[in-house]
Amino acid sequence: MGSNKDIDLIEDGKRLDGRDFDELREISIDAGVLKRADGSAYLEWGKNKIMAAVYGPREMHPRHAQETTKAVVRARYNMAAFSVPDRKRPGPDRRSTEISKLVSEALEKVVFTENYPRSVIDVFIEVLQASAGTRCGGLTAASVALADAGIPMSDMVASCASGKIEGEVVLDLGKNEDNYGQADVPVGYIPRSDELCLLQMDGNLTQEEYEKAMEMSIDACKDIHEIQRGALRERYSTELQEEEITKASEGVE
Ligand code: UDP
Repeated sequence: MGSNKDIDLIEDGKRLDGRDFDELREISIDAGVLKRADGSAYLEWGKNKIMAAVYGPREMHPRHAQETTKAVVRARYNMAAFSVPDRKRPGPDRRSTEISKLVSEALEKVVFTENYPRSVIDVFIEVLQASAGTRCGGLTAASVALADAGIPMSDMVASCASGKIEGEVVLDLGKNEDNYGQADVPVGYIPRSDELCLLQMDGNLTQEEYEKAMEMSIDACKDIHEIQRGALRERYSTELQEEEITKASEGVE
């Protein structure tokens, strides 16, 4: 977040990429893209490209990290060195540690962790290309990957940010908006229970602006949730079709 008067983020009532204030960038999600993971999802959101892979539930190692009454959801967010214009130094840093923690906490709200004491559910989020909003994209993809792994959950978390640019509340900040805007507020939303499981705020908003931002984000999360459900529907209808094709080709009734 910062302000830079040399950059106009709004022209003729439209944003730099031509979007309306309440318009999301284009989102597509594919579920079940990795053979060796228990569950996976690949997401493209604007120029962001993110892979999520789930392994588990499996026995937690090291053992001292086990919880005796529930599973631990252990998310690891990582940005590839080539994901940003200036090469990102490989390995964990403060930002990725923070994002891993908040994604783990958001997912723990929906996973029935009490079903798997002493276990861990590993969630890997690999950002292959980044262009603002990767924590939201990562959390959204991770939820689909968990569902793809068949992990019992109360719902999938949908996530999206809204914020402020040039005094206007807008949805889903792009790269320049994130760099030169005035506020960025990512949320994670659980549609079924109408609850938030992630809320951060970078920059400042008045109460009125905050309420408008929340309304925009929650509406958008409901749309994102439909895209998540669509990805699972597509995955399983394709799998069923493939089974039919295999059976047919093998002459099995
Ligand atoms: N970014 C970058 N280098 C970094 C970290 C971030 O170029 O080491 C870019 C990247 O495009 C990212 C954006 O800055 O998406 C915004 O980062 P932020 O920390 O706000 O998280 P995000 O919006 O991705 O959740």
